[in-house]
Amino acid sequence: MARSYLAEAGRKKVAPKKERIRPIIDRLAVEHADAKIALTFANPLELLVSVMLSAQTTDVNVNRVTEKLFTKYKRPEDYLAVPVAELERDIFATGFYRQKTKSLRGTMQRIIEVHGGEVPESFDELLKLPGVARKTANVVSAERGNPQGIVVDTHVRRLSQRLGLTKQSDPVKIERDLMRLVPREDWARFPHLMIWHGRRICDARKPLCEECPLALDLCPSSRVS
Ligand code: SF4
Repeated sequence: MARSYLAEAGRKKVAPKKERIRPIIDRLAVEHADAKIALTFANPLELLVSVMLSAQTTDVNVNRVTEKLFTKYKRPEDYLAVPVAELERDIFATGFYRQKTKSLRGTMQRIIEVHGGEVPESFDELLKLPGVARKTANVVSAERGNPQGIVVDTHVRRLSQRLGLTKQSDPVKIERDLMRLVPREDWARFPHLMIWHGRRICDARKPLCEECPLALDLCPSSRVS
């Protein structure tokens, strides 16, 4: 069970979350003007594959693998044209390579058979691809300009709890809370802002509250008085 940060959100008295969400987004947008997806891709198929490979590993690691992978595998058919062991070898460095190979092959099969070789636009159809869970479908939809939900990863979970935007620990329930709170036009960039803030300032073990633009009035977990 992942660590909970809910107990930290009682340090400082702040306004209700509905009043804080706009300034939180605006200040983080200034602080992390460069916040965007860290995966490297050139088309929807590469986006989908990158996100599928990113489970349980870092984006930097995925980019290292896909730099070569995408010169060899350009169409869905390419993932099925090689022996299973070869694809396993080609994605080995991303970890969980057997499961990921199985998911990739199943996904490519369905993309070819049901979607004429194109990555489907529909969120529900993305979810029907083998090995594609809600988080992957969310990332892909958001990057294609059609967010259907809010991506909740470890950073989004931690910051949502510290900022008092949710009292939940389960990612699905956290997402539900955020979808009620975050304006729809911000659904795609919100997770990027949280992820970059989490990486640069609001570290899991040592949050740098003295450097945080939310510390004085917007964060109930702030260590700055
Ligand atoms: S770094 Fe910012 S968001 Fe994180 S706990 Fe401190 S004040 Fe809150």
